[in-house]
Amino acid sequence: MQRLLSHPAYKMACDQFDAVADFLDMPVALRERTKLPKRMLTVSLPVKMDSGEVKVFLGHRVQHHLTLGPTKGGLRFHQDVELGEVAALAMWMSWKCALADLPYGGAKGGVQVNPRELSTAELERLTRRYTSEMVPFIGPQTDVMAPDMGTNEQVMAWMMDTYSHQIGHAVPSIVTGKPVSLGGSLGRKEATGRGVAFLINRVVDMLKMPGDCRVIVQGFGNVGSYAALALAKFGSRITGVSDVSGGVFNPKGIDLVALQEHIERKGVLADFKGGDHLSNEELLVQPCDVLVPAALDQVITEKNAGKIQCRILAEAANGPTTVAADAILRQRPEIFVIPDILCNSGGVIVSYFEWVQDLQSFFWSEQEIFDKLYRILGTTLDTVLREAKAKNIDHRTAALSLGIQKVVRAKQLRGLFP
Ligand code: NAD
Repeated sequence: MQRLLSHPAYKMACDQFDAVADFLDMPVALRERTKLPKRMLTVSLPVKMDSGEVKVFLGHRVQHHLTLGPTKGGLRFHQDVELGEVAALAMWMSWKCALADLPYGGAKGGVQVNPRELSTAELERLTRRYTSEMVPFIGPQTDVMAPDMGTNEQVMAWMMDTYSHQIGHAVPSIVTGKPVSLGGSLGRKEATGRGVAFLINRVVDMLKMPGDCRVIVQGFGNVGSYAALALAKFGSRITGVSDVSGGVFNPKGIDLVALQEHIERKGVLADFKGGDHLSNEELLVQPCDVLVPAALDQVITEKNAGKIQCRILAEAANGPTTVAADAILRQRPEIFVIPDILCNSGGVIVSYFEWVQDLQSFFWSEQEIFDKLYRILGTTLDTVLREAKAKNIDHRTAALSLGIQKVVRAKQLRGLFP
């Protein structure tokens, strides 16, 4: 299994788990059972391109554990997707859901494709093919997908339609993050980014930092853009932003509306006139109060962890900090880390609300959704900080150990069948 999953992200997720298992003194038999993914499916996806040529893409889905309910997790379209990375992301989803007390195991899906190279029609055919290959493997009580990097509301709408056709009636609860008119939840699109901003603002208050924080955001997609907009609304100055084409830096603050218009027109941030252009690597080490990695995993590494210049590191992306970088950050107590499984959990929490609303066919107001979301995020932040203080451990270890312990306790209570 280790060879099948060989990928730096999977090794990183396992190393994190092993360190927490050591800290908790977890029995060996429970370790393997809790760590290894329960089910993995890899499919080849023949898709007719607009040219008439047939291209075959590779798709994966990993369901990490099924102990507490259906599995839940996003679907990623990215050219570098590999099974091991998907398994790592599924594992992190397990601890994230458990930490927030959601009745889910973790899952993740991925298709090895650069979605920006496909036409809309090709993207639709690829999405439908992936969904139909997954039908025996997914369901509202088995495994529920959501958007992640490279996928969006439209992709979720195609998935819901494909699944519903196969089942014979509309099944909105098969995916979350779909358009509101198809049974999506108000607030879901903004939930991850607004949740990140909520947690940052709580920590800024806690640390008694000035309100007009300088913020750098890596990645200006769904999560990064909504986080930046929400932070700017509450008085922060967004001094740096990047996307796949590079970064822009302006100590006076970036005009986000102009930036959004530029990206809408050009597709990427490159050539935006509102600041100096830097590489993604350079942007991460510029001085700021809050650094928000909101793109790929493993971007804070042993090479730059000693150089980042922020007071708060808010991990909006999944797995942005490597284990080696973490060791360096532990020697830098001036940096307050909001670990990924807490920081970006707003997305899965509102996905959970969407699933509940779909199952009941009873929909809530946006106010109700954000009130409930902020209550859960606030309580979880307090719990993690209390645990870290009580056990004298870093925030990531506290968050992971709380999540992992919940899964372990559930497995012990259910016992081993047969
Ligand atoms: P997205 O596809 O909407 O946006 C991704 C952004 O990252 C884009 O701006 C893209 O240009 C940029 N990017 C891609 N490659 C890059 C690179 N090499 N360097 C710098 N920037 C790069 O994706 P998203 O949904 O915003 O997800 C971003 C991160 O947040 C991922 O790690 C994802 O797993 C995590 N996340 C997303 C959600 C969600 O609800 N969408 C929830 C929890 C966590």
